[in-house]
Amino acid sequence: MTRRPAYSNLAEHPQAQDVRAVLARVPRLSDVELRGLAARWRNGAVVEEARRRALSPDTVLVVDILRAFDDIAALFADDLVGEADFCPVPPSLVSAALKAVRDAVAAVVARPGLSRGEYAALSAPWREVMGRPPLAGSSDRPAHKSAGAAVERLLAAAVTLGTRCHDDRPAATYEGLLVRAMTRDEDEREQALHSAHTAAVLTGRRREWSLLRRDAARGVARRCGSCAVPAAAVTPAYDDERVTELVADAACGLLMSDVADDRVLHTLLAPLSGLVPLARPTSGA
Ligand SMILES: [Zn+2]
Repeated sequence: MTRRPAYSNLAEHPQAQDVRAVLARVPRLSDVELRGLAARWRNGAVVEEARRRALSPDTVLVVDILRAFDDIAALFADDLVGEADFCPVPPSLVSAALKAVRDAVAAVVARPGLSRGEYAALSAPWREVMGRPPLAGSSDRPAHKSAGAAVERLLAAAVTLGTRCHDDRPAATYEGLLVRAMTRDEDEREQALHSAHTAAVLTGRRREWSLLRRDAARGVARRCGSCAVPAAAVTPAYDDERVTELVADAACGLLMSDVADDRVLHTLLAPLSGLVPLARPTSGA
């Protein structure tokens, strides 16, 4: 009996790139694609057995995958409730579509251990709707690709705040951000955020919006590994929330930078200027 090697995390897995390609596409699934995935998802004996084997808890990797599924479900929280005007797909269909996504990820992860038929059965809904198998090369770039690099730089900068416990520079940056968060015009911020979010809904980016806000929160919440100081002893949770809002607003501003007007962008991005390197993405790049 051959035993699959255990990988300590998703990044080390040989299929990591393929898994990421599927996961990266998920926040941008359109309503039509969701309906298509839901219509094609089936739960027959073959699929069930393939899924059971793909997600058998014999590797640490399965924890990573289940966490990724949790993250996906969180992105679709509004859709799974289905009450908001901008959620036209019935929750039962959204739920079935997410099961099709889960099966596509499971198929990619477990491919070396699956028979051809099992792989085909698990990946069929994704393959049919997306027009290609869930494999390398299938990672479509977002329409607003020029924002991607700027957003990544911003989130990376947020992570560097994690050493504020012992490092003066990130500590000063954090303090600067906090002061600006405390002193900005809340009404202006609300209006800009509302305007940008409306644009995100209209352009099908509201899940990417949620994803960015979550990533910003995780970035700011990251702690240094060398000081054994409890998080709350470094900076209070309330302060972290204010700084997170500032970073998340800027990330969302960058996401919408190709369609939002200058005033909105200025409101969302300006509080970071001089503290966090923040280049506006070039249009059409
Ligand atoms: Zn430290």
